[in-house]
Amino acid sequence: TAMKLVVTGGAGYVGSVCAARLIEAGHEVVVVDDLSTGHADAVPGGARFIEGDAAETAETLLGEGFDGVLHFAAKSLVGESMQDPGKYWNGNVVTSLRLLDAMRVHGTPRLVFSSTAATYGEPDSSPIPESAATRPTNTYGASKLAIDHAITSYARAHGLAAVSLRYFNVAGAYGAYGERHATETHLIPIVLQVATGDREQVQIYGEDYPTEDGTAVRDYIHVVDLADAHQLALAGAAAGEHRIYNLGNGTGFSVRQVIEACREVTGHPIPAAVAPRREGDPAALVAAAGRAREELGWTPERADLAGIVGDAWRFTQSRRGATAPR
Ligand code: UDP
Repeated sequence: TAMKLVVTGGAGYVGSVCAARLIEAGHEVVVVDDLSTGHADAVPGGARFIEGDAAETAETLLGEGFDGVLHFAAKSLVGESMQDPGKYWNGNVVTSLRLLDAMRVHGTPRLVFSSTAATYGEPDSSPIPESAATRPTNTYGASKLAIDHAITSYARAHGLAAVSLRYFNVAGAYGAYGERHATETHLIPIVLQVATGDREQVQIYGEDYPTEDGTAVRDYIHVVDLADAHQLALAGAAAGEHRIYNLGNGTGFSVRQVIEACREVTGHPIPAAVAPRREGDPAALVAAAGRAREELGWTPERADLAGIVGDAWRFTQSRRGATAPR
């Protein structure tokens, strides 16, 4: 059934893809985004767009009556969170608390929240189930975990139907919707910038991790599979409950393996150099995502790394065509 939804952060990477898919599924979508890291032209055509702070906007907007909120708006860079923690405690935690209060005041029944594998920190064993200990190694993860705790108590006390989705490493693109940050920090887009010639080489952050080739291992998930899970979460949310699901493919790829996949997809040699570890980075994060499969009926259909990189590569090339005065 069609719902009326607020999508915070719908001008960003994951938010814009999810908003586009929600609109295609027949939902009515209002995107709220302050454009601090998003782009106005990434907001899907069928959405109403309000430029503004997620919390401040929600405090009045939700009075119109909505079926739910998908809360993507956030600061999401591990390195930056270690340098400037206030940006994360204020930007993520304070904003989300105000949003929760606005939802309570206006009786908005459903919330789907973008949580993260960074809430787990360095795991005791791999792959990581939702029952694993949460000991974030960086402020980004700590801020998202604090919000998860708040959502649990709001759901219990106020009857909110809430789902937190713990993303592993989101990658790939959906047609014209993809990852484009002013300063890119994520591995796959950086490697593809080397392939386009916009960057000379990729730095491998650490080669002394306790992994097979010494580089850090991550679970890369296609952004469209991720978007599908949001729709299932919205449909499956239950009043008074806060459910938490990992979203990943259950397969880890090392930094070196990702670079190799990009070499194969792009046909570019992609020079790489070893650099020191990045502060706050765990050695390996791989999802046990059985709960999302069993309870939400979620089946990721785009797990192949070359396919994920291929979609990101097509997007990167099309953006260069669109923007490049060189
Ligand atoms: N990484 C790297 N070089 C880069 C960017 C990232 O070696 O230029 C590594 C990073 O240390 C991590 C992995 O690639 O182990 C994925 O990092 P990313 O920033 O894409 O996602 P995160 O895991 O931090 O969410």
